[in-house]
Amino acid sequence: MEHQIILLPKDNYYGWVGAAKDYVVRFGPNVTADPDSAGRYMTPQQTVTIAGAPDGYPAQGDIQAWFRANYPSIRMDYIAAETPDDFAAALKARMDANDRYLQPDAPFQLLWPTEFPKVMQPFGVNPDVYRRWNLPGHDGIDFRAPREAKVFACADGVVKRVDSWNGNPQDFPSGNRIDVAHRDGYVTLYAHLQQALVKVGDPVRAGQVIGLADSTGFSSGDHLHLTLKKTGATAAGLTNFPRDIIDPSPFLIWPAEATVEASGSAPPAVSFPWPAGQCLIGVNGRADGRMQEADFTAVTQAKMEAVKLTSTAAPEDVDRLRAINPAMFIMVRLFASFKGRNYPAAQFAQDVQHDMGQFYQRGVRYFEVHNEVNLVDEGWTTTWQNGREFGQWFLDVRNRLKAVYPEALLGYPGLSPDGFPMPLRTNDMRFLDESEAAVQAADWIGLHCYWVDEAGINSPAGGLGYLEYRRRYPNKLLFITEFSNPAQGVDKRIKAQQYARYYQMVRNVPGLGAALAFVLSASSGFLHEVWRDEDGSLSEIPGVLGRR
Ligand SMILES: [Zn+2]
Repeated sequence: MEHQIILLPKDNYYGWVGAAKDYVVRFGPNVTADPDSAGRYMTPQQTVTIAGAPDGYPAQGDIQAWFRANYPSIRMDYIAAETPDDFAAALKARMDANDRYLQPDAPFQLLWPTEFPKVMQPFGVNPDVYRRWNLPGHDGIDFRAPREAKVFACADGVVKRVDSWNGNPQDFPSGNRIDVAHRDGYVTLYAHLQQALVKVGDPVRAGQVIGLADSTGFSSGDHLHLTLKKTGATAAGLTNFPRDIIDPSPFLIWPAEATVEASGSAPPAVSFPWPAGQCLIGVNGRADGRMQEADFTAVTQAKMEAVKLTSTAAPEDVDRLRAINPAMFIMVRLFASFKGRNYPAAQFAQDVQHDMGQFYQRGVRYFEVHNEVNLVDEGWTTTWQNGREFGQWFLDVRNRLKAVYPEALLGYPGLSPDGFPMPLRTNDMRFLDESEAAVQAADWIGLHCYWVDEAGINSPAGGLGYLEYRRRYPNKLLFITEFSNPAQGVDKRIKAQQYARYYQMVRNVPGLGAALAFVLSASSGFLHEVWRDEDGSLSEIPGVLGRR
């Protein structure tokens, strides 16, 4: 559907109408001498073709400036013409070219692609988030667009690609997506759509509705992501982005009321680098040593999607877990005993490197660097005196391991939450503040959530502990690397029901990778948390979770 109206000067109006007659018959636009009628017509999806006579619109003055000020969202199609004959000649050239809007010398421009004048995430920002995809920053512009909002083509062109995603963000990070090829080698890409309303090969006009918005693919909320490419731009050094991606901002016709989300206010529509796209349902494997037969039985019965092993597990345990669930996400905690000694980073990296490599070779990429490092038993006061010293230790370990395993994603370890009964601990939030540089350099952040009663599940000091981490690190991928109700005297069936509820609670929290309950089994200790006994008998936890 094409909405076009031709604006003609009042002076000698019928002379101008005569000049436009053949064009009107051919393409069917409306005609008016009133600039306001032209501005309001079918807004914001119309093109106003202007017969650009000098002094043709004395009440408005510079007619292009007037439209930009009063009707910024319309698409202007200005034809400079001294006389009706000039105008007729220009329109005839278009008809001869079978091109309704022939504009050989006009700069390439992008129409605003939604009805909402708000940018949620500008081009090039958040380098920390996008570095993982080898991008120097956000590779497009995120526009506000609630679910099912209209998405408009930014410029005339032809649809060259339509992706229908299969529900797996790993296969289709852009979700449902449309690519439109434009003149001069420009291509626009519209991502995270609910559906495309065009198909490959369709010609589209600027302002045409081509799809509806949503949050499909790698996306943490409803919005429209727009990428602009220019063929050859990367090779020519015109951009530091790969795949010919360039900054769309200078091409965009900004509505007068457009605003850009200020960083630090409402959370931006960040696309977290998390292939699964949702918080996986997981558990910590055996606390010490390799997984045993009853552990695999519990994982099967509980229908787990994620397991965190320690590096003291056997690498073959990875194969067993993938046999249970081919999509199983596996994380490994780099494990070593710190008790009572000073354990330099170089020594730790050397000690864990061999075991880590065995998991790395099996495709494991997510590694948590140690654990609860704000406890005396885990290095506080013996290897580091505070968060700052731990941060230096972490960065040293990280650099050493990345040099050997470049694709490894090394996580800042979960801290022991303050307020939770545990002697010999230093405050977790202060520890985070002191180790800020390490937190920012980490590929992801682990955190622990514990509670002992029903109310604790919904408490910021308990199950909702991840909220403070999200507030502090809005763009970081988070993992709940441990959670449980370790209380004595609470039936494991009750705990299982709490866990089932907790998994459901966090399932769709953006940027949470997995929630990993503590713990399948242990050779000693953790009596009130283990999912099975050492004689191999299962508690009620796996069964209750399996029926979730
Ligand atoms: Zn985006």
